[in-house]
Amino acid sequence: MCVAATGSAQLTALPPLREVIARHGLSASKALGQNFLFDEQLLDKIAAIPGELDGAQVLEIGPGPGGLTRALLRAGARVTAIERDARCLPALAELAEAFPDQLLVIEGDALKVAHGIDGPFHIVANLPYNVGTALFVGWLGGESWPPQWSSLTLMFQQEVAQRIVAAPGSSAYGRLAVLAQWRSAARLALKVHRSAFTPPPKVMSAVVHVIPQTMPEGVSARMLERLTEAAFGQRRKMLRQSVKGLPGALAALGKLGIDETRRAETLGVGEFVAVARELS
Ligand code: SAM
Repeated sequence: MCVAATGSAQLTALPPLREVIARHGLSASKALGQNFLFDEQLLDKIAAIPGELDGAQVLEIGPGPGGLTRALLRAGARVTAIERDARCLPALAELAEAFPDQLLVIEGDALKVAHGIDGPFHIVANLPYNVGTALFVGWLGGESWPPQWSSLTLMFQQEVAQRIVAAPGSSAYGRLAVLAQWRSAARLALKVHRSAFTPPPKVMSAVVHVIPQTMPEGVSARMLERLTEAAFGQRRKMLRQSVKGLPGALAALGKLGIDETRRAETLGVGEFVAVARELS
């Protein structure tokens, strides 16, 4: 049977995901942080967050049985997917067959394997918390900018998503917010109820969307990281205490007219950038 799908060339009708999971014995592994999404409407909503995907390159991390992958392929994306769990590969191979030339699956740990895609590409992932945060810090850190990726669409625990988009003055504001906002625009794109996952995790989730922006001139990413590490490492302390171990930091605060009795969480992202520029 030939089924037409918007923006893609799907050759065969796909069986329901739950059937695929049962047929391939894909019981969710706790160790691999597996919580699967089955709701097609929700998956299409997530796949729409990066914008128009017809013909675009997408790097998906952790496709699992392929629910989100299907939505990306339906949207016409050319997907390279990295999956650690070899049990998922036969199900993903069926998906690659149904969408010829649209899906390449790489088996491995996304923290270690190379994907070999030349940019630009969108990154989309529903990952376990620890892997997602480590990759996020890697994608947003580093001196080289702009990055090869043109957007990040990532599922996190809601509490982590709130830390990424947090504004100064809130308890969620910290290193992750500065990292995500100093040369990118980050927004909370979609809240996802825990009951949408199988099995449901203990906490609510949310999808964050990040787009790279122009990098402020004269600022070392490493220096900004050292500064926020010091400042938020002792977030209850005044800056004159928390950053005093960073050579030149107190002088930079003075030069910029930033009161050293303030605490880290009161400094805007632009103020952190200005101090880091003085130190870079
Ligand atoms: N994307 C699917 C969905 O939305 O239903 C599965 C999501 S599940 C939360 C996370 C997936 O990431 C699992 O398939 C798991 O095996 C995979 N995974 C976990 N750690 C990984 C890693 N280090 N590298 C690649 N994949 C990983």
